[in-house]
Amino acid sequence: MPAPESPRPLRVRVSPAAERAIRSGHPWVYSDSIRDQNREGATGDLGVIFDRRDRFLALGLWDADSPLRIRILHAGSPTPIDDAFWRTRLETALARRSGMFGPDTTGYRCLYGESDGWPGLVLDRYGDTLVLKTYTAAWLPRLGTIIALLRDRLAPARLVLRFSRNTKAAAEAAGFQDGANAWAAGEDDRVPFLENGLTFEAEVIRGQKTGFFLDQRDNRQRLERRTRGADVLNVFSYTGGFSLYAARGGARSVTDLDISAHALAQARRNFACNAGIPAVASARHEQIQEDAFEWLAAASKPRFDVLVLDPPSLARRESERAEALVAYGRLAGSGLRWLRPGGLLLAASCSAHVSAPEFFTAVRTAASRRGGSFRELETTGHPADHAATFAEAAYLKAIFLQWEPGSGRSR
Ligand code: SAH
Repeated sequence: MPAPESPRPLRVRVSPAAERAIRSGHPWVYSDSIRDQNREGATGDLGVIFDRRDRFLALGLWDADSPLRIRILHAGSPTPIDDAFWRTRLETALARRSGMFGPDTTGYRCLYGESDGWPGLVLDRYGDTLVLKTYTAAWLPRLGTIIALLRDRLAPARLVLRFSRNTKAAAEAAGFQDGANAWAAGEDDRVPFLENGLTFEAEVIRGQKTGFFLDQRDNRQRLERRTRGADVLNVFSYTGGFSLYAARGGARSVTDLDISAHALAQARRNFACNAGIPAVASARHEQIQEDAFEWLAAASKPRFDVLVLDPPSLARRESERAEALVAYGRLAGSGLRWLRPGGLLLAASCSAHVSAPEFFTAVRTAASRRGGSFRELETTGHPADHAATFAEAAYLKAIFLQWEPGSGRSR
Protein backbone atom coordinates (compact mmCIF):
# COMPACT_ATOMS: atom_id res chain seq x y z
CA MET A 1 0.00 0.00 0.00
CA PRO A 2 1.51 3.33 -0.97
CA ALA A 3 1.73 5.72 1.93
CA PRO A 4 1.37 9.46 1.69
CA GLU A 5 4.68 11.33 1.73
CA SER A 6 6.12 11.00 5.20
CA PRO A 7 7.26 14.19 6.89
CA ARG A 8 10.40 12.47 8.18
CA PRO A 9 12.81 11.94 5.29
CA LEU A 10 13.92 8.41 4.63
CA ARG A 11 17.72 8.39 4.86
CA VAL A 12 19.58 5.52 3.32
CA ARG A 13 23.12 4.26 2.96
CA VAL A 14 24.14 1.82 0.25
CA SER A 15 27.07 -0.47 -0.54
CA PRO A 16 30.26 0.98 -2.05
CA ALA A 17 29.44 -0.70 -5.37
CA ALA A 18 25.99 0.86 -5.38
CA GLU A 19 27.52 4.25 -4.56
CA ARG A 20 29.79 3.93 -7.57
CA ALA A 21 26.93 2.86 -9.79
CA ILE A 22 24.83 5.84 -8.70
CA ARG A 23 27.75 8.22 -9.30
CA SER A 24 28.15 6.86 -12.80
CA GLY A 25 24.48 7.53 -13.50
CA HIS A 26 22.88 4.14 -12.99
CA PRO A 27 19.23 4.62 -11.98
CA TRP A 28 18.57 1.51 -9.87
CA VAL A 29 19.42 0.48 -6.31
CA TYR A 30 18.57 -3.10 -5.38
CA SER A 31 17.36 -4.03 -1.90
CA ASP A 32 20.49 -6.07 -1.20
CA SER A 33 22.66 -2.97 -1.78
CA ILE A 34 21.01 -1.10 1.06
CA ARG A 35 23.25 -1.01 4.12
CA ASP A 36 21.16 0.97 6.57
CA GLN A 37 18.18 3.25 6.80
CA ASN A 38 16.79 5.52 9.53
CA ARG A 39 13.28 4.05 9.41
CA GLU A 40 11.06 1.64 7.52
CA GLY A 41 10.34 2.88 4.04
CA ALA A 42 6.86 2.82 2.54
CA THR A 43 6.26 2.48 -1.16
CA GLY A 44 6.15 5.97 -2.61
CA ASP A 45 8.53 7.53 -0.08
CA LEU A 46 11.41 9.55 -1.35
CA GLY A 47 14.58 7.75 -0.33
CA VAL A 48 17.53 10.08 0.19
CA ILE A 49 20.87 8.35 -0.27
CA PHE A 50 23.96 9.55 1.57
CA ASP A 51 27.48 8.36 0.93
CA ARG A 52 29.97 7.00 3.46
CA ARG A 53 31.00 10.53 4.42
CA ASP A 54 27.41 11.56 4.90
CA ARG A 55 27.25 13.64 1.77
CA PHE A 56 24.13 13.73 -0.34
CA LEU A 57 24.40 11.31 -3.20
CA ALA A 58 20.97 10.98 -4.79
CA LEU A 59 17.29 10.59 -4.14
CA GLY A 60 14.70 8.34 -5.61
CA LEU A 61 11.38 6.55 -5.42
CA TRP A 62 11.20 3.84 -2.75
CA ASP A 63 9.37 0.64 -3.63
CA ALA A 64 9.02 -1.61 -0.59
CA ASP A 65 7.60 -4.48 -2.67
CA SER A 66 10.27 -4.68 -5.33
CA PRO A 67 13.84 -5.96 -5.20
CA LEU A 68 14.48 -2.82 -7.23
CA ARG A 69 14.15 -0.81 -4.04
CA ILE A 70 15.07 2.71 -5.17
CA ARG A 71 14.65 4.23 -8.61
CA ILE A 72 16.86 7.28 -8.76
CA LEU A 73 15.18 10.53 -9.67
CA HIS A 74 18.10 12.81 -9.17
CA ALA A 75 21.79 12.51 -8.29
CA GLY A 76 24.44 15.11 -7.52
CA SER A 77 23.35 18.00 -5.31
CA PRO A 78 20.16 18.17 -3.23
CA THR A 79 17.09 19.41 -5.03
CA PRO A 80 13.44 19.73 -4.04
CA ILE A 81 11.06 17.33 -5.77
CA ASP A 82 8.24 19.76 -6.36
CA ASP A 83 5.98 20.84 -9.22
CA ALA A 84 8.80 22.79 -10.86
CA PHE A 85 11.00 19.68 -10.80
CA TRP A 86 8.42 17.60 -12.64
CA ARG A 87 7.68 20.40 -15.07
CA THR A 88 11.35 20.71 -16.01
CA ARG A 89 11.61 16.93 -16.42
CA LEU A 90 8.66 16.95 -18.77
CA GLU A 91 9.95 19.89 -20.80
CA THR A 92 13.33 18.22 -21.21
CA ALA A 93 11.74 15.04 -22.55
CA LEU A 94 9.47 16.96 -24.89
CA ALA A 95 12.38 19.03 -26.18
CA ARG A 96 14.25 15.81 -26.99
CA ARG A 97 11.40 14.82 -29.27
CA SER A 98 10.81 18.16 -30.89
CA GLY A 99 11.24 17.86 -34.64
CA MET A 100 11.44 14.07 -34.44
CA PHE A 101 8.08 13.44 -36.07
CA GLY A 102 6.11 15.16 -38.80
CA PRO A 103 2.34 15.26 -39.12
CA ASP A 104 2.28 11.75 -40.61
CA THR A 105 3.37 10.22 -37.29
CA THR A 106 1.08 10.98 -34.35
CA GLY A 107 1.91 7.90 -32.27
CA TYR A 108 5.14 7.98 -30.29
CA ARG A 109 6.63 7.72 -26.82
CA CYS A 110 6.84 11.02 -24.94
CA LEU A 111 8.40 9.71 -21.72
CA TYR A 112 10.55 6.60 -21.68
CA GLY A 113 11.06 5.71 -18.03
CA GLU A 114 14.50 6.00 -16.47
CA SER A 115 16.03 7.10 -19.77
CA ASP A 116 13.97 10.30 -19.61
CA GLY A 117 14.29 10.73 -15.84
CA TRP A 118 10.86 9.19 -15.16
CA PRO A 119 11.82 5.82 -13.65
CA GLY A 120 9.18 3.13 -14.03
CA LEU A 121 6.79 5.33 -15.98
CA VAL A 122 6.02 5.70 -19.68
CA LEU A 123 3.83 8.14 -21.52
CA ASP A 124 2.73 7.36 -25.08
CA ARG A 125 0.80 9.56 -27.41
CA TYR A 126 -1.78 8.24 -29.89
CA GLY A 127 -3.21 11.19 -31.74
CA ASP A 128 -5.00 13.35 -29.16
CA THR A 129 -4.94 10.59 -26.56
CA LEU A 130 -2.21 10.10 -23.98
CA VAL A 131 -1.62 6.80 -22.23
CA LEU A 132 0.29 6.91 -18.96
CA LYS A 133 1.59 3.58 -17.67
CA THR A 134 3.39 2.99 -14.40
CA TYR A 135 5.51 -0.02 -13.51
CA THR A 136 5.98 0.78 -9.81
CA ALA A 137 3.40 1.67 -7.17
CA ALA A 138 5.84 4.34 -5.97
CA TRP A 139 4.22 6.69 -8.48
CA LEU A 140 0.76 6.41 -6.95
CA PRO A 141 1.12 9.14 -4.30
CA ARG A 142 2.25 11.62 -6.98
CA LEU A 143 -0.05 10.56 -9.80
CA GLY A 144 -2.42 13.46 -9.14
CA THR A 145 0.43 15.94 -9.57
CA ILE A 146 1.64 14.28 -12.75
CA ILE A 147 -1.84 14.11 -14.25
CA ALA A 148 -2.42 17.81 -13.56
CA LEU A 149 0.92 18.65 -15.13
CA LEU A 150 0.22 16.62 -18.28
CA ARG A 151 -3.20 18.10 -18.61
CA ASP A 152 -1.87 21.62 -18.21
CA ARG A 153 1.12 21.25 -20.53
CA LEU A 154 -0.17 18.86 -23.23
CA ALA A 155 -3.94 19.43 -23.15
CA PRO A 156 -4.82 16.04 -24.63
CA ALA A 157 -8.40 15.13 -25.43
CA ARG A 158 -8.09 12.12 -23.15
CA LEU A 159 -5.64 10.62 -20.70
CA VAL A 160 -5.81 6.89 -20.04
CA LEU A 161 -4.11 5.30 -17.03
CA ARG A 162 -2.54 1.89 -17.29
CA PHE A 163 -0.86 -0.08 -14.53
CA SER A 164 1.52 -3.00 -14.87
CA ARG A 165 0.22 -6.29 -13.51
CA ASN A 166 2.21 -6.03 -10.27
CA THR A 167 0.88 -2.55 -9.46
CA LYS A 168 -2.81 -2.96 -10.34
CA ALA A 169 -3.95 -3.90 -6.81
CA ALA A 170 -2.10 -0.98 -5.21
CA ALA A 171 -3.50 1.34 -7.87
CA GLU A 172 -7.03 0.20 -7.09
CA ALA A 173 -6.48 0.67 -3.38
CA ALA A 174 -5.35 4.22 -4.16
CA GLY A 175 -8.51 4.86 -6.19
CA PHE A 176 -7.15 4.33 -9.72
CA GLN A 177 -8.50 1.80 -12.18
CA ASP A 178 -6.41 0.19 -14.92
CA GLY A 179 -7.69 1.43 -18.27
CA ALA A 180 -9.78 4.24 -16.80
CA ASN A 181 -9.57 7.79 -18.00
CA ALA A 182 -7.83 10.27 -15.73
CA TRP A 183 -10.00 12.67 -17.60
CA ALA A 184 -11.82 12.14 -20.73
CA ALA A 185 -13.51 12.56 -23.85
CA GLY A 186 -14.27 9.06 -25.01
CA GLU A 187 -14.47 5.54 -23.68
CA ASP A 188 -13.42 3.66 -26.81
CA ASP A 189 -10.67 1.08 -26.46
CA ARG A 190 -9.57 1.82 -30.03
CA VAL A 191 -7.79 5.07 -30.71
CA PRO A 192 -6.66 5.83 -34.27
CA PHE A 193 -3.30 7.42 -34.95
CA LEU A 194 -0.78 7.72 -37.76
CA GLU A 195 2.56 6.03 -38.09
CA ASN A 196 4.52 7.13 -41.14
CA GLY A 197 1.25 7.86 -42.89
CA LEU A 198 -0.38 4.51 -42.10
CA THR A 199 -3.44 4.50 -39.87
CA PHE A 200 -3.49 2.15 -36.90
CA GLU A 201 -5.78 1.70 -33.95
CA ALA A 202 -4.10 1.43 -30.57
CA GLU A 203 -6.03 -0.56 -27.99
CA VAL A 204 -5.41 1.78 -25.13
CA ILE A 205 -7.52 0.01 -22.50
CA ARG A 206 -6.92 -3.68 -23.13
CA GLY A 207 -3.97 -3.78 -25.51
CA GLN A 208 -0.45 -4.89 -24.62
CA LYS A 209 1.94 -2.26 -23.25
CA THR A 210 0.05 0.99 -23.85
CA GLY A 211 -1.89 -0.39 -26.83
CA PHE A 212 0.62 -0.67 -29.66
CA PHE A 213 4.26 -1.59 -30.24
CA LEU A 214 5.58 1.84 -31.09
CA ASP A 215 9.15 0.65 -30.66
CA GLN A 216 9.16 -1.19 -34.01
CA ARG A 217 8.32 1.89 -36.10
CA ASP A 218 11.77 2.27 -37.68
CA ASN A 219 12.18 -1.45 -38.32
CA ARG A 220 8.80 -1.53 -40.06
CA GLN A 221 9.95 1.29 -42.31
CA ARG A 222 13.17 -0.58 -43.10
CA LEU A 223 11.10 -3.63 -43.98
CA GLU A 224 8.79 -1.66 -46.27
CA ARG A 225 11.69 -0.88 -48.62
CA ARG A 226 12.26 -4.60 -49.19
CA THR A 227 8.88 -6.14 -49.87
CA ARG A 228 8.08 -5.28 -53.49
CA GLY A 229 6.48 -8.28 -55.15
CA ALA A 230 7.20 -10.48 -52.14
CA ASP A 231 5.18 -13.10 -50.29
CA VAL A 232 5.59 -12.02 -46.68
CA LEU A 233 5.09 -14.02 -43.49
CA ASN A 234 4.75 -11.91 -40.35
CA VAL A 235 5.18 -14.19 -37.35
CA PHE A 236 3.86 -12.87 -34.00
CA SER A 237 2.05 -10.29 -36.06
CA TYR A 238 -0.07 -8.84 -33.21
CA THR A 239 -2.18 -6.09 -34.80
CA GLY A 240 -0.35 -6.13 -38.13
CA GLY A 241 2.27 -3.39 -37.71
CA PHE A 242 4.89 -5.02 -39.94
CA SER A 243 2.18 -6.41 -42.22
CA LEU A 244 0.80 -3.03 -43.22
CA TYR A 245 4.23 -1.65 -44.08
CA ALA A 246 4.99 -4.78 -46.09
CA ALA A 247 1.74 -4.33 -48.01
CA ARG A 248 2.40 -0.66 -48.69
CA GLY A 249 5.89 -1.62 -49.86
CA GLY A 250 4.29 -3.61 -52.65
CA ALA A 251 4.12 -7.14 -51.26
CA ARG A 252 2.12 -9.58 -53.35
CA SER A 253 0.78 -11.30 -50.26
CA VAL A 254 1.03 -10.75 -46.52
CA THR A 255 0.30 -13.52 -44.01
CA ASP A 256 -0.18 -12.76 -40.32
CA LEU A 257 0.63 -15.56 -37.91
CA ASP A 258 -0.43 -15.09 -34.28
CA ILE A 259 -2.01 -17.17 -31.54
CA SER A 260 -4.47 -14.45 -30.57
CA ALA A 261 -7.77 -14.20 -32.40
CA HIS A 262 -8.27 -10.78 -30.88
CA ALA A 263 -4.95 -9.48 -32.24
CA LEU A 264 -5.71 -10.92 -35.68
CA ALA A 265 -9.12 -9.24 -35.71
CA GLN A 266 -7.48 -5.91 -34.92
CA ALA A 267 -4.97 -6.52 -37.73
CA ARG A 268 -7.90 -6.93 -40.14
CA ARG A 269 -9.32 -3.67 -38.87
CA ASN A 270 -5.97 -1.97 -39.41
CA PHE A 271 -5.88 -3.26 -42.99
CA ALA A 272 -9.38 -1.87 -43.48
CA CYS A 273 -8.25 1.51 -42.11
CA ASN A 274 -5.67 1.70 -44.92
CA ALA A 275 -7.74 0.30 -47.78
CA GLY A 276 -7.47 3.68 -49.50
CA ILE A 277 -3.78 3.01 -50.19
CA PRO A 278 -3.64 1.13 -53.52
CA ALA A 279 -0.71 -1.14 -52.59
CA VAL A 280 -2.45 -2.14 -49.36
CA ALA A 281 -5.71 -2.82 -51.17
CA SER A 282 -4.03 -4.99 -53.79
CA ALA A 283 -1.88 -7.11 -51.46
CA ARG A 284 -3.48 -10.44 -50.63
CA HIS A 285 -3.95 -10.52 -46.85
CA GLU A 286 -4.13 -13.87 -45.11
CA GLN A 287 -4.12 -14.93 -41.49
CA ILE A 288 -3.16 -18.01 -39.55
CA GLN A 289 -4.20 -18.41 -35.94
CA GLU A 290 -1.76 -20.94 -34.53
CA ASP A 291 1.02 -21.40 -32.05
CA ALA A 292 3.92 -20.01 -34.06
CA PHE A 293 6.55 -22.31 -32.62
CA GLU A 294 4.54 -25.38 -33.55
CA TRP A 295 3.35 -24.10 -36.90
CA LEU A 296 6.84 -23.11 -38.06
CA ALA A 297 8.40 -26.34 -36.84
CA ALA A 298 5.93 -28.36 -38.90
CA ALA A 299 7.49 -26.85 -42.04
CA SER A 300 6.52 -28.07 -45.44
CA LYS A 301 8.02 -26.09 -48.29
CA PRO A 302 9.68 -22.71 -48.70
CA ARG A 303 7.02 -20.32 -49.87
CA PHE A 304 7.84 -16.88 -48.51
CA ASP A 305 10.29 -14.23 -49.69
CA VAL A 306 10.24 -12.19 -46.50
CA LEU A 307 9.99 -13.51 -42.97
CA VAL A 308 9.45 -11.35 -39.87
CA LEU A 309 10.05 -12.93 -36.45
CA ASP A 310 9.13 -10.63 -33.58
CA PRO A 311 8.18 -12.84 -30.64
CA PRO A 312 7.19 -11.72 -27.16
CA SER A 313 10.01 -11.65 -24.64
CA LEU A 314 11.39 -15.17 -24.32
CA ALA A 315 13.43 -14.36 -21.18
CA ARG A 316 11.47 -12.60 -18.49
CA ARG A 317 14.23 -13.11 -15.97
CA GLU A 318 17.98 -13.60 -16.02
CA SER A 319 17.65 -17.33 -15.23
CA GLU A 320 15.78 -17.84 -18.52
CA ARG A 321 18.49 -16.26 -20.63
CA ALA A 322 20.28 -19.40 -21.83
CA GLU A 323 17.01 -21.12 -22.64
CA ALA A 324 15.78 -18.06 -24.50
CA LEU A 325 18.90 -18.01 -26.69
CA VAL A 326 18.27 -21.60 -27.69
CA ALA A 327 14.62 -20.74 -28.41
CA TYR A 328 15.59 -17.74 -30.56
CA GLY A 329 17.96 -19.93 -32.54
CA ARG A 330 15.35 -22.64 -33.00
CA LEU A 331 12.72 -20.14 -34.03
CA ALA A 332 15.00 -18.64 -36.67
CA GLY A 333 15.98 -22.13 -37.80
CA SER A 334 12.44 -23.38 -38.25
CA GLY A 335 11.30 -20.04 -39.69
CA LEU A 336 14.05 -20.11 -42.31
CA ARG A 337 12.76 -23.41 -43.67
CA TRP A 338 9.76 -21.44 -44.94
CA LEU A 339 11.99 -18.92 -46.74
CA ARG A 340 12.79 -19.16 -50.41
CA PRO A 341 16.45 -18.88 -51.44
CA GLY A 342 17.21 -15.19 -51.91
CA GLY A 343 14.68 -14.24 -49.25
CA LEU A 344 14.94 -11.79 -46.38
CA LEU A 345 14.80 -12.54 -42.65
CA LEU A 346 14.04 -9.87 -40.08
CA ALA A 347 14.48 -11.29 -36.57
CA ALA A 348 13.87 -9.17 -33.48
CA SER A 349 14.15 -9.68 -29.74
CA CYS A 350 12.62 -7.60 -26.97
CA SER A 351 14.19 -9.54 -24.09
CA ALA A 352 16.25 -7.21 -21.93
CA HIS A 353 18.04 -10.22 -20.45
CA VAL A 354 19.38 -11.29 -23.84
CA SER A 355 22.14 -9.02 -25.15
CA ALA A 356 22.23 -7.82 -28.74
CA PRO A 357 25.52 -9.63 -29.60
CA GLU A 358 24.32 -12.98 -28.27
CA PHE A 359 20.97 -12.65 -30.00
CA PHE A 360 22.61 -11.79 -33.31
CA THR A 361 24.96 -14.75 -32.93
CA ALA A 362 22.01 -17.09 -32.33
CA VAL A 363 20.27 -15.88 -35.50
CA ARG A 364 23.45 -15.91 -37.60
CA THR A 365 24.17 -19.46 -36.49
CA ALA A 366 20.67 -20.56 -37.45
CA ALA A 367 21.13 -18.90 -40.86
CA SER A 368 24.46 -20.59 -41.49
CA ARG A 369 22.82 -23.93 -40.75
CA ARG A 370 20.20 -23.22 -43.39
CA GLY A 371 22.86 -23.42 -46.08
CA GLY A 372 23.81 -20.83 -48.66
CA SER A 373 25.24 -17.51 -47.58
CA PHE A 374 23.42 -14.71 -45.87
CA ARG A 375 24.39 -11.10 -46.28
CA GLU A 376 23.92 -9.03 -43.18
CA LEU A 377 22.06 -5.91 -44.24
CA GLU A 378 21.92 -4.28 -40.84
CA THR A 379 21.42 -4.66 -37.14
CA THR A 380 19.32 -2.13 -35.28
CA GLY A 381 18.48 -1.05 -31.76
CA HIS A 382 16.16 1.49 -30.25
CA PRO A 383 14.26 4.20 -32.12
CA ALA A 384 14.91 7.80 -31.08
CA ASP A 385 11.77 8.19 -28.97
CA HIS A 386 12.82 5.09 -26.99
CA ALA A 387 16.49 6.05 -26.59
CA ALA A 388 17.98 3.95 -23.76
CA THR A 389 20.53 5.53 -21.41
CA PHE A 390 21.66 2.39 -19.54
CA ALA A 391 22.23 -1.23 -20.44
CA GLU A 392 19.12 -2.71 -18.76
CA ALA A 393 16.84 -0.35 -20.67
CA ALA A 394 18.17 -1.46 -24.06
CA TYR A 395 15.86 -4.40 -24.69
CA LEU A 396 15.17 -4.12 -28.43
CA LYS A 397 17.43 -5.45 -31.18
CA ALA A 398 16.85 -6.65 -34.70
CA ILE A 399 18.88 -8.19 -37.48
CA PHE A 400 18.17 -8.15 -41.22
CA LEU A 401 19.69 -11.04 -43.15
CA GLN A 402 19.41 -11.44 -46.90
CA TRP A 403 19.93 -14.86 -48.41
CA GLU A 404 22.27 -14.36 -51.34
CA PRO A 405 20.40 -15.27 -54.51
CA GLY A 406 21.70 -18.41 -56.09
CA SER A 407 23.69 -19.50 -53.03
CA GLY A 408 20.95 -21.46 -51.40
CA ARG A 409 20.02 -25.03 -51.06
CA SER A 410 16.48 -25.79 -50.14
CA ARG A 411 16.16 -28.48 -47.58
N1 SAH B 1 5.36 -7.71 -34.09
C1 SAH B 1 4.27 -7.09 -33.36
C2 SAH B 1 4.41 -7.24 -31.87
C3 SAH B 1 4.44 -8.66 -31.40
S1 SAH B 1 3.87 -8.84 -29.77
C4 SAH B 1 4.14 -5.64 -33.75
O1 SAH B 1 5.00 -5.14 -34.49
O2 SAH B 1 3.20 -5.00 -33.33
C5 SAH B 1 3.86 -10.56 -29.57
C6 SAH B 1 2.71 -11.27 -30.23
O3 SAH B 1 3.00 -12.65 -30.14
C7 SAH B 1 1.34 -11.07 -29.60
O4 SAH B 1 0.45 -10.65 -30.57
C8 SAH B 1 0.95 -12.46 -29.08
O5 SAH B 1 -0.42 -12.76 -29.26
C9 SAH B 1 1.78 -13.34 -29.95
N2 SAH B 1 2.12 -14.66 -29.41
C10 SAH B 1 2.54 -14.96 -28.17
N3 SAH B 1 2.84 -16.27 -28.07
C11 SAH B 1 2.58 -16.81 -29.29
C12 SAH B 1 2.69 -18.12 -29.84
N4 SAH B 1 3.13 -19.13 -29.10
N5 SAH B 1 2.36 -18.29 -31.12
C13 SAH B 1 1.92 -17.29 -31.88
N6 SAH B 1 1.79 -16.02 -31.41
C14 SAH B 1 2.12 -15.79 -30.14
